[in-house]
Amino acid sequence: MKFVKENENLEKYVDNIFSVVNAAKADPGCINATAGCLYDEDGKMFTYKCVAEAEDRLTSVQKAAYAASPSGNKAYLDAVSEFVLENNVTNNYTALATPGGTGALSTAISMCLDENDTIIFPEIAWGNYKVIANEKNLKVLTYDPYDLDDIFNKIDSVDKKVFLIVNSPCQNPLGYSYTLDEWKKIVDKLNNTGKETILLCDIAYIDYANDNPKEYFKLFNDISDNLLVMIGASCSKAFSYYGQRLGLLITINNDKEFLDHFTNLASRLARATWSNVNNAAMLVISDVLENHFDEYKKELDDAKAMLKKRVSLFVEQARENELELYKFSDGFFVTIKVADNKLRDEIHQRLIDNHIYTIKVNKGIRLGLCSVPLKIVDGLASKIKELM
Ligand code: PLP
Repeated sequence: MKFVKENENLEKYVDNIFSVVNAAKADPGCINATAGCLYDEDGKMFTYKCVAEAEDRLTSVQKAAYAASPSGNKAYLDAVSEFVLENNVTNNYTALATPGGTGALSTAISMCLDENDTIIFPEIAWGNYKVIANEKNLKVLTYDPYDLDDIFNKIDSVDKKVFLIVNSPCQNPLGYSYTLDEWKKIVDKLNNTGKETILLCDIAYIDYANDNPKEYFKLFNDISDNLLVMIGASCSKAFSYYGQRLGLLITINNDKEFLDHFTNLASRLARATWSNVNNAAMLVISDVLENHFDEYKKELDDAKAMLKKRVSLFVEQARENELELYKFSDGFFVTIKVADNKLRDEIHQRLIDNHIYTIKVNKGIRLGLCSVPLKIVDGLASKIKELM
């Protein structure tokens, strides 16, 4: 193709999400379950009061200023690392501020994989993994997220370097979270591949998980020298800060010297790509975490309770109406099982024709219950089942 670099991947980029999101916006009164953002019970985007108040405390100079360094402001790196890891990781780690969780994932992949290397991720997954893989000319292997043996077979089938993405807890779109026991098996396998192995944990939705979702981080204290663990965190979801583009990439390894060098190279990549992330947003999040954590926790608990009510009601009514869902634990989404993608397309369109907007995913239809008020969730499963 004229003008673009020779090895550009010319596969056409089609964004399935934004087109249906826009169609829903143009259909007033519809049921819009397309969003990947949390909405309140009045149908408005959920925002954290403590975050808005921290924004109000910023001066115009702070808003205008560049960040202190391409790797991020120290206060932000310290506060968010502590917030994410919660004292579970005693192994060596470093942190890099990134534009959202996407920036963290993309940086991790760019740092570790060459063109034509293989990346492994779930067969039903956030669509952007494929977009990132295409953009970087990677080979893709997918696994059934409910079948650990399938994950292990895929790991065995790569002969050079293993790069595995695991999106848990609250997988997008399935809402599945691996148990500690499943995590032990995954990490055990990765520790014993005999090859250079990278585990990229996408924890974008972890703050909305129930129980003790960070327990498995402790497994990263006892890893083989062949294993590099990376954690991609997102302030978009944790703080309802989607547009501010803030995230964190944490890298864990036994070798401190390697990590220092690795982080230096990642900072160069950051400098060369986005230069530095949003200074004001970093100041806001570090202020919230350092000075207003209890307020944040209370608001987060309220948000989680709101989400839980919606999801519990939908799952219960889906069961009553024999609407088959993929196995679900927690999070923003549930996915209706439609294994045949042709049939899925028909159902998805039929739902749109009846003013119910959802997102098509491989072998299913995703409902973003995060954006649907409880009164609209009530009865939604039976409506969908009828239309199916
Ligand atoms: N990972 C998953 C699974 C997601 O669904 C998202 C956003 O929708 C992200 C990562 C990254 O989000 P952001 O770049 O907005 O932080």
